[in-house]
Amino acid sequence: MWEPVIGLEIHAELSTSTKIFCGCSTEFGAEPNTLVCPVCSGMPGVLPRLNEAVAVYAVRLGLLLNCSINPNSVFDRKNYIYPDLPKSYQISQLYTPVCTDGKLEITSGGKTKIITIREIHIEEDAGKLIHDPLSGNTLMDFNRCGIPLVEIVTNPDFETAGEVAEFLENLKEILMYADICDCKMQEGSIRADINLSIRQKGGELGVRTEMKNLNSFKAIGRAVESETKRQTEIIESGGKITQETRRWDDNKQKSFSMRSKENANDYRYFPEPDMQPLIISDDMINGIKNTLPELGTQKRERYEKDWHIAKNDAEIITSHKNIATVFEELSEKSGSPSESANLITGEIMRLMNTHSIRPENLKVNCDKLSYLIKLEHSGKINGNSYKKTVAAVFKDNVEPDDYIMKHGLLMNSDNDAVSRAVKKVLSDNSVAADDYRNGKEKAFGFLMGAVMKELRGSGNPEIIRKSLTEILSNGDGRI
Ligand SMILES: [Zn+2]
Repeated sequence: MWEPVIGLEIHAELSTSTKIFCGCSTEFGAEPNTLVCPVCSGMPGVLPRLNEAVAVYAVRLGLLLNCSINPNSVFDRKNYIYPDLPKSYQISQLYTPVCTDGKLEITSGGKTKIITIREIHIEEDAGKLIHDPLSGNTLMDFNRCGIPLVEIVTNPDFETAGEVAEFLENLKEILMYADICDCKMQEGSIRADINLSIRQKGGELGVRTEMKNLNSFKAIGRAVESETKRQTEIIESGGKITQETRRWDDNKQKSFSMRSKENANDYRYFPEPDMQPLIISDDMINGIKNTLPELGTQKRERYEKDWHIAKNDAEIITSHKNIATVFEELSEKSGSPSESANLITGEIMRLMNTHSIRPENLKVNCDKLSYLIKLEHSGKINGNSYKKTVAAVFKDNVEPDDYIMKHGLLMNSDNDAVSRAVKKVLSDNSVAADDYRNGKEKAFGFLMGAVMKELRGSGNPEIIRKSLTEILSNGDGRI
């Protein structure tokens, strides 16, 4: 029985505002080649200078992944010639990475497992090549040159695609909650490569391949399964696996050989002569330790324990840091975490879906929404009007009071107005009224709805229910 043995290499772009060795902006999506300077475009004679925030983020991640922090790590020059790399070398760390020997616990298929992390090193990103299918030309954008990266390298501890996905989800949550990386996979902020070989259960490790171009967690799962099958078929038919880098094509659900896999010596690594060693003092480590942010798992625990939020709701809320932030602000301002959780997991999620808003782009006015939570709670507006006004605040940031007055949404608790509406509905719907009197309970819901409609959605459901029951049992409203 063949089993896959999988290791991961994950590149994460750090959320610093400037690049790793110069002051250029790291903004995504700017006009090509507008965020470049002599340093990041590799002009002769320039010198790199490390952005301190890069070291802070790398150490923060190392601490969160239980790594040892190297007090004295060195940068190395990785030489290769490729059009996206104007310097023809990349500054990275080969021999002494900044963090080593970490671990992260995952739960997959009901089993808990520790995945060990070999190292985290700091490096710079290369530029981007854009292939223009119309002209057949390739264009170069150097804006990405010098964007700071950390590369997280795991040991080959994974046995299934499910374990890989779970690890990546956990890691992504840590990167996002600790503000280390925005984890926008669609913008390439986090990219994972898979190293995979197969072996007989418990036997010796086989030759591995590296798979690149995986741009979603789902694609990673499919690639793991496809590569396991491909290697098994080759070995079972008497063939040999070639050590190589393969490119995954998710549309074709297939991988293609890119190049034979390079070894470290192919890159002629040597210590980077333009860089000082990176010295990390105990004071610096302690300072970072003392300011570690609250992570998703800790938030979920706190919401459940202190605020009595259901586990499922806590998971939805913490699925993105931005949603959790909105939830906490709403809870504080409205004084009701449970109603804030209901609003977020219900209406807000629905509105985000309808308007195709990604969690990272969610922006709501918590002052206005918390005011609406209070209005609904105190019985000034009913559930219908609450939802309508929430939607209007969400979409157009309307003033709640103006909107409620303009649309007549204040709860109509005027007994006379309600009983007039009830009588009108009963006379217009005598069949349903008779049905109810003859024991068809369902007809009551229909009549409730009709009265609410008559009151333009703003009726007080309790008063309608009472009035309807009374009038029906008195025999009024019969024609
Ligand atoms: Zn620059």
